[in-house]
Amino acid sequence: MRSVFIIFFISFFLSSDLSAKSIEDSFLKGDIESTIYQIESFDKKDKPKNIILLIGDGMGMNHITLSRLAIGGDNYQLALDQMPHIGTSTTQSSNDLITDSAAAATTWATGKKTKNKYLSMTPDKEPLQTITELLSKRGYLTGVVATSSVTHATPAAFFSHVDSRYKTKEIASQLLSSTINVAFGGGIKYFKSFDIDKEKYTLLNSKSDLLNLTTNSNKNLLGLFAEDGIMRTEKDMPSQLEMTKVALNYLSNNSKTCNGFFLMSEGSQIDWAGHSNNLEYLFAEFTDFDATIGNIIDFVTEDQETLLIITADHETGDLQILDESDTSVKVSWGSKNHTGVPVGVFAYGPGAHLFSGEMDNTDIFFRMLDVLDYKNTPETLCK
Ligand SMILES: [Zn+2]
Repeated sequence: MRSVFIIFFISFFLSSDLSAKSIEDSFLKGDIESTIYQIESFDKKDKPKNIILLIGDGMGMNHITLSRLAIGGDNYQLALDQMPHIGTSTTQSSNDLITDSAAAATTWATGKKTKNKYLSMTPDKEPLQTITELLSKRGYLTGVVATSSVTHATPAAFFSHVDSRYKTKEIASQLLSSTINVAFGGGIKYFKSFDIDKEKYTLLNSKSDLLNLTTNSNKNLLGLFAEDGIMRTEKDMPSQLEMTKVALNYLSNNSKTCNGFFLMSEGSQIDWAGHSNNLEYLFAEFTDFDATIGNIIDFVTEDQETLLIITADHETGDLQILDESDTSVKVSWGSKNHTGVPVGVFAYGPGAHLFSGEMDNTDIFFRMLDVLDYKNTPETLCK
């Protein structure tokens, strides 16, 4: 009798395991011509004035491979593929091999690992200075752009210090008292209870405010374009490309007499597509992300003093490639959550060679400060 029960329990656990099995899906390959970007070579001695950190939240290597095939087919080259320096980054947080976006963004913002859900605080809840706080005291302008709410984990790690990414009101309040010069994204509902200082900020409330902005004022910019995340399904929402272009324009125009600028721009919803195992959503978000990369590659080539770094916080969805035909690809999603695999790091511009080989996510913070020669930059303000 006992052995019957044991067999029953074993088969119960096996079958509950099987219920978590992967979901298969497929898509048709695209067929368009690649846009080929002009890529300059830089001397190893060249130093950047500015840094742009582009984050594809949840963007594993297979998300890139499959988006390439879906957008343009077998021979297509993404803008991302044209980045001349490539490496990998490990992603674990202080308490978990599988990080969340808060702990991962804390590593780029502060160089320290923390617990999942913490934003720029140690595991013992001591606040950590962020790269935007450090650089703004050294004569740089700083900005964050996201297709999520600006209070969401990745942008928030650059200006807030809280022990939970879900304390959104506290995060919003910390943004308003921070040194961030440009913040674009969603999140209107998190700012409703605050009286936003009109002397400090030019407020942008719609896509047309964003696209018609004339940047002759040096007031900070706060652009909130959706109640929460910026959903493509809503009418008149700006893309990551549109927000990033305006942020870049503002930062480069207003930092001409300063040491430079730092901009973080995130394709936040690559992750959300992974959580919902939705290929169509993934490809739409990735297309916007890659267009943003293309635009910044052109900026770097022309400007010659800006370093572009692209990476991800983690992979989302355990996305695997199963099979292909001439016209289609079969894939599987093994998870609705994050996984612990390494992610890619891609760089272009002066100092880009430092972002190749194997890295830990914390290394990116230290290399960004090194390449700007932060240690030898005296305190000054950019205003
Ligand atoms: Zn996620």
